[in-house]
Amino acid sequence: MRAIFPWLPVPLATVGLTVWFLGGNWPQVLAAAVIAAVSAATIGIAATRRLEQRADALAAAARGEMPSATLPVLADDPDDPARLARQVQATAKTAHETGRQLEMLRAVVDGMSEGLWITSPDGNVIEHNTALKEMLFSVTELVGRPSSQLINSRELEDAVLRACRENASSRLEVSIEGLLPRVLAVQVSPLGRELAGSAAVFQDVTELQRLEKVRKDFVANVSHELRTPITAIRGYAETLKSGALADATAAPKMVDIIYRQSERLSELVEDLLELSRIDAKQIQLTPRPVDVSQAAQRASETIRPKASAKAIGVEIAVPPGLSAQADERAIEQVLLNLLDNAVKYTQSGGKVRVTAVPKNGEIEIAVKDTGAGIEAKHLPRIFERFYRVDKGRSRDMGGTGLGLSIVKNLVGLMRGDVRVESRPGEGSTFFVELPAAHPEPK
Ligand code: ADP
Repeated sequence: MRAIFPWLPVPLATVGLTVWFLGGNWPQVLAAAVIAAVSAATIGIAATRRLEQRADALAAAARGEMPSATLPVLADDPDDPARLARQVQATAKTAHETGRQLEMLRAVVDGMSEGLWITSPDGNVIEHNTALKEMLFSVTELVGRPSSQLINSRELEDAVLRACRENASSRLEVSIEGLLPRVLAVQVSPLGRELAGSAAVFQDVTELQRLEKVRKDFVANVSHELRTPITAIRGYAETLKSGALADATAAPKMVDIIYRQSERLSELVEDLLELSRIDAKQIQLTPRPVDVSQAAQRASETIRPKASAKAIGVEIAVPPGLSAQADERAIEQVLLNLLDNAVKYTQSGGKVRVTAVPKNGEIEIAVKDTGAGIEAKHLPRIFERFYRVDKGRSRDMGGTGLGLSIVKNLVGLMRGDVRVESRPGEGSTFFVELPAAHPEPK
């Protein structure tokens, strides 16, 4: 508004001079000049006011506070503020929409379990997601660093450059050394025709490969374990068939071996079936209060003939009334497997003792023997399937290498834990912890 006042002398002087030329006297000149100035000022103020209102409306529309549709459009004026406002609003809306989509994309990319990086055409990382940083255990900034500096792999470096320069995609596996060695499967792709650079997606396949190795080892072990008794059975049966049957001294021995090997085969198949039922979660455990002393007594009855044959004393020293929250059949099988091992790996004349104590809401059962003991280096592995300290000895004793693995799985299913303490020459003690049974409400 203030901009009008400096211009007021212009109409004032023009009208005054015109009246004076036309022969007007001073009062007439003055009156005409004042009227002209007042009119000009009024028109000017009105026009400025209107312009200011439109500018305010335009600013409000641009800020999105006022719909541009409410601004009138002058059809013949391409510079009309309302058109401008609509244009500004449309651009702002597109920018807002793009921003929202980018935000959504960022959330998806950061939520991925796979790692992701985007590189510039020269192979420097320009973007990455959270998973990649975690996968590389990196605490420093990744952006701006050459991809080859983040993962030391010539193959990956070549794949990134091929994607950037030749638009070629590659799939490869890279191994990362260090405290926690890992294997990553990587898919490297070019960004696209119009965008120079590459993108790589990383998947941690370490666990997958470990499980695949466990599966392969298991199949190989099973085949080997089955082959040994089958070979013996077939060999002795063939020898008998081709004449040894008539040998009154050798024949009964051979038949005896065939019988023992077939027993071993059936034990192996039983153990394998039990493990496969556990793995397939086909075992229905019914946890209920089980009297530990009675369960231990029943398991020891089964083992007693074997123990007596080796003159091994089996003592059950579990106080009566101790109840574990467990499945009756499972707890008995656990104790039977531990007692069987204790007798198997204890020399003639040795001792086996079962005790139990309540401990922090659990019942801790201990199966202790005076046997050969186990070297410390084997202790962390003896619960693995088919792991044996002495393969030959285990087989001679009729072991399958699966007993402790079954124990561990069954105890786990009963929400318990199993551990071992042993020293060579000092015997072994296996501890089983099971939840204590809650007293039955009366
Ligand atoms: P196995 O059928 O061979 O006994 P297990 O899974 O029951 O298989 O036991 C795994 C290995 O742990 C055995 O081969 C043996 O070397 C060792 N082991 C288990 N229990 C005892 C024990 N009480 N004393 C000494 N060694 C044992």
